[in-house]
Amino acid sequence: MIGLVDGNNFYVSCERIFQPKLEGRPVGVMSNNDGCIIARSAELKALDIPMGTPAFKLEELRQRGDIHLLSSNYELYGDMSARLTQLLRNACPDVAPYSIDEMFVYLEDFTAEQCEALGRKLRQRIRRHLGLPVCVGLAPTHTLAKLANHVAKQDPYYQGVCLLGGQDHTTEALLKRTPVSSVWGVGHRLAERLAIGGVRTAWELRESDEKQLRKRFSVVLARTALELRGTPCLTMNALDLPRQRIMTSRSFGQPTGDFTQVHNALRRHAQRSAEKLREQRSLARAVMVFLNTNRHRRDQPQCFPQALIALPSPSDDTRVILDTVRQGLEQMYRPHHHFMKAGVMLLDLVDAERHQLSLLGPTPHHHHPLLMAAVDQINQQMGRGTISFGMTNAPAAWQLRCAHRSPRFTTRWDELMLAGTHPGAIDACTSRT
Ligand SMILES: [Mg+2]
Repeated sequence: MIGLVDGNNFYVSCERIFQPKLEGRPVGVMSNNDGCIIARSAELKALDIPMGTPAFKLEELRQRGDIHLLSSNYELYGDMSARLTQLLRNACPDVAPYSIDEMFVYLEDFTAEQCEALGRKLRQRIRRHLGLPVCVGLAPTHTLAKLANHVAKQDPYYQGVCLLGGQDHTTEALLKRTPVSSVWGVGHRLAERLAIGGVRTAWELRESDEKQLRKRFSVVLARTALELRGTPCLTMNALDLPRQRIMTSRSFGQPTGDFTQVHNALRRHAQRSAEKLREQRSLARAVMVFLNTNRHRRDQPQCFPQALIALPSPSDDTRVILDTVRQGLEQMYRPHHHFMKAGVMLLDLVDAERHQLSLLGPTPHHHHPLLMAAVDQINQQMGRGTISFGMTNAPAAWQLRCAHRSPRFTTRWDELMLAGTHPGAIDACTSRT
């Protein structure tokens, strides 16, 4: 069985841990520079405020106290994400982060009952130890686990944990009422093409002829259909479409504790991720880097550090991403460990065409689309890596606007939560930053 643990409204939930007054209130988290809404609480969604709404349009609501808007606090979200991963690693043998708030856990040799019991236990433990609400989806394949998680979130009957057997009536009933566009890896454009051939639901995709799918669409779609039948055949990398986040990671040929080697691997992943980003015409708002030691080597010290850093403005520029990756590595690197795997994840993607540069924000002085297009073209024609970027220096510290950022409660000594009897304690803490 495969489990998918996914945080509910993750950014907002991280904020609520330390500011319980936000519980039950409409809360939005803004992009860097307080530009637009990138995360919403259920209450804010209920007000019909869409993702990407420019923050200035909500200023009146905010001033009236009807809604709460917070600057993004990536340091806090990144740290809570690392704690979530760590808690899961303590409980499950095999954990693979898929995004900042989604982690796959692989449960071999567990019965369905044991999986469900473990799912409930994990959910309780995460709530108690971290204060985070999560839902757990369990199924024999990645694609079904993702669907199971979606159901666990939507349908209160499941109380946060949903298990799909793959062959049972529950799975069949669910697939029959799930539009094919909700299946992992099936975007809206693909769903439209499928509809022409009469495939509208997940069940119809599952029942489609695999060879035809392969011939008329793609290998990935044929595999997705198999996954819906309960046959595992997709790897994490194949699950990238449609991409809300881009990940490039690889195991080292030889475990290494050498900073430069680790850095070089991350630099390669950063360049590849930036290429993928430009291919799909997106910009990233944040970069996550992570390292894993070999969990099978019990005789060696273990650690799984990760760092999450926000970009000054959304970017697809390889140099910006390289600089950020280096900052992240310096933050999280631990000497005396042998690392087995390194990865770079680009998060909170935004459509490059629709993204309008804020006139008030910092000048994106790294913005050179023609240079990046030239690099991509050369690498496409003459082979990947023909042109790559050398070591770059740290960027000048851009002064970011983040007037409403909550304290970085878990990573800064001078921003710890204050315990006090008077109700203004939290506010005092917030204004101190
Ligand atoms: Mg989530």
